[in-house]
Amino acid sequence: MSQRKIVIEPDPILRKKSEMLETVDDELRALLDDMLETMYDAPGIGLAAVQVGILKRLIVIDISKDKEKKNPLFLINPEIISSSKKTSVHEEGCLSLPGHFAEIERPAECQIKFIDYNGKEKKLKADGLLATCIQHEVDHLNGILFIDYLSKLKKDMIVKKLIKHKKELDKVIL
Ligand code: ZN
Repeated sequence: MSQRKIVIEPDPILRKKSEMLETVDDELRALLDDMLETMYDAPGIGLAAVQVGILKRLIVIDISKDKEKKNPLFLINPEIISSSKKTSVHEEGCLSLPGHFAEIERPAECQIKFIDYNGKEKKLKADGLLATCIQHEVDHLNGILFIDYLSKLKKDMIVKKLIKHKKELDKVIL
């Protein structure tokens, strides 16, 4: 397993739509393992492949609070098949928008179908933090970031700060 570099907004790749996968093989599983390691190290609770620069419909999630008991969820070609009318608000952050958080309202529950780590088709009903996390990550596969739900003013302010942050990172590298 090896860690991958996380893409930081603004970056045009984060706005692209990811592609469906045809087969689940060892190469794909190695990528999922890398994504999981990258996510744990960050640390974060969800990561989409586009965030490591790969435009494939792949997501890793682990919302377990206990670090000793890891409970990773691998979603290949996830698709939201239904969502509740009832909504909930969670404070969201994103590994591609380091240091920024905002309260986002989304459907409180959702049901998805996906392919698992072993290539099996599965369905999952989610609520609470998991439902929010799944919707946030599926948004990534469609080129959507949580800041897109904010006012233009708030969004512009965050992007401006991220540009400054990226310039500072470049200085360190030079
Ligand atoms: Zn994110």
